[in-house]
Amino acid sequence: EPEFANLLDMFADAVRRAPDRDAIRYFDGVIGLADLDAASDALAAALQDLGFAAGDRLALFSQNDPAFVIGMLATWKAGGIAVSVNPMYKERELAHLLRDSGARALLCLDEVHAVARNVLADNTTGVDIVVSFTGRDFQTRDDDRVLGTHPPVGGTHDLVTLLTEYAGRRPAAVAPAAPDDTAFLVYTSGTTGDPKGARLTHANFVFNARSYREWMRLGPDDAILAIAPLFHITGLVGHGILSLLVPAPLVLSHRFHPGVMVDAIREHRPVFTVGAITAFAALAAVPDVGPEDFRSLTKIYSGGAPIAPAVAGKLEVVLGGYIHNAYGLTETSSITHVVPPDRRAPVDPGSGALSIGVPIASVHARIVDENGHDLPPGEVGELLIAGPQVAAGYWRGPGTPATPFPDGELRTGDVGFMDPDGWFYLVDRKKDMIIAAGYKVWPREVEDVLYTHEAVREAAVIGVPDDYRGETVHAVVSLHPGAEITEPDLIAYCKARMAAYKYPRAIRFVPDLPKTASGKILRRELRGS
Ligand code: ATP
Repeated sequence: EPEFANLLDMFADAVRRAPDRDAIRYFDGVIGLADLDAASDALAAALQDLGFAAGDRLALFSQNDPAFVIGMLATWKAGGIAVSVNPMYKERELAHLLRDSGARALLCLDEVHAVARNVLADNTTGVDIVVSFTGRDFQTRDDDRVLGTHPPVGGTHDLVTLLTEYAGRRPAAVAPAAPDDTAFLVYTSGTTGDPKGARLTHANFVFNARSYREWMRLGPDDAILAIAPLFHITGLVGHGILSLLVPAPLVLSHRFHPGVMVDAIREHRPVFTVGAITAFAALAAVPDVGPEDFRSLTKIYSGGAPIAPAVAGKLEVVLGGYIHNAYGLTETSSITHVVPPDRRAPVDPGSGALSIGVPIASVHARIVDENGHDLPPGEVGELLIAGPQVAAGYWRGPGTPATPFPDGELRTGDVGFMDPDGWFYLVDRKKDMIIAAGYKVWPREVEDVLYTHEAVREAAVIGVPDDYRGETVHAVVSLHPGAEITEPDLIAYCKARMAAYKYPRAIRFVPDLPKTASGKILRRELRGS
């Protein structure tokens, strides 16, 4: 395989090898690789005519729609940088992201167009090119057989009209991107603070798409199910860019809806997927599903959030396959650690934590103490990562070099350890540590115990300010439908299973826990309420 200088070289190679292969399967529609190439050429030409120039940023504000992939390729073809935006964002968040990235253009799904329109009304952003498109969405669970469409909103360019008008056109030549040029600004999930824009290069993505292909051993017949949102690093690399590299069909189903997703699995027989464990829990909870429905999915990876061992075991029974762990961050273009497909993650006998895997080739991962000194196997410290998929740094505005990580090493903010065989384990996120009466309490450990109780569906443990103990341990829990347990009984259950300083002093029951769009439970939001 040639060394690709950039993502367009990588894509062009796939188109050359297999122009007729399915690139995207979207409900009952199919887009071939050559069609995807032509559509992105046309959009790139249109964007150039509208004034979009090399180096400009185009923000993708969309669900998992084919337009996301077309828009991303078109941006690169016009010499630009793509920016992904969480489609759940409201005005304040969108405005911040458009200003921070200095976006010139916006490709926007009609469904979220009202938010965009409100932001653009008092135009304090630099956006002057808006292209909108109509996604295909289902309405509710009751009528999700009826695929509804959203009426287009006027005042902007319509994607389909542009594609028709520019069909067969190619963009004017721009200088090809160098490996270290920025391909994408991807904002972190904002789980622990405000989202930060990671400046990810062409080389970062090519490397990590290959990491997926090689470590998960994927071939062209292995259709990829997009469970994670494309705007998030997991979906962007582990679905979108990976599918263009292999090239393998990408199965898209607009937004994550468990029933619709199960239908897509039955229809398109995907082999591989990667997503948050909460998404797999939602699939397993669809009425009347069983291993037969998921038979094609032989490579299931969970990433982006911890897996409670008690939960994984139950899901595997329904899904009929092993859920592999994978670890990574936005700043590392998704994965840095994986559990290889033919291996099961070891469980740490002390903490009961499931390993996140081993570092993928070329990744340098180490565990350090407060002073940055290497710690021996078994000792707990912060995980630092260097490697070809680590971002150039955070975005600091156009023309400004990204703020690099010292020595190219990223401080992940995750606390963990390595065992003598080289398997890594996470204890928790540094920012989430609770100090109760002087003792360190890691929420994950307490949550893992809560998850062993059969009534518990979701659990989050947080520190609450306390005059006497500094902080005290609280839990917020949702129960399985029909399950019952009282607060004192659940507290007693925990108390019997952990040291006295760790068990929750209070438990609040809620119907659902707040989560990010990529399925992580937001402890930060619970602390604030
Ligand atoms: P922010 O940095 O804005 O708070 P975020 O860190 O959640 O948001 P992401 O880049 O989406 O943004 O997430 C990376 C984090 O997700 C990791 O630092 C780690 O805490 C967590 N994570 C990823 N994979 C796993 C895994 N397999 N097990 C446990 N935690 C994981």
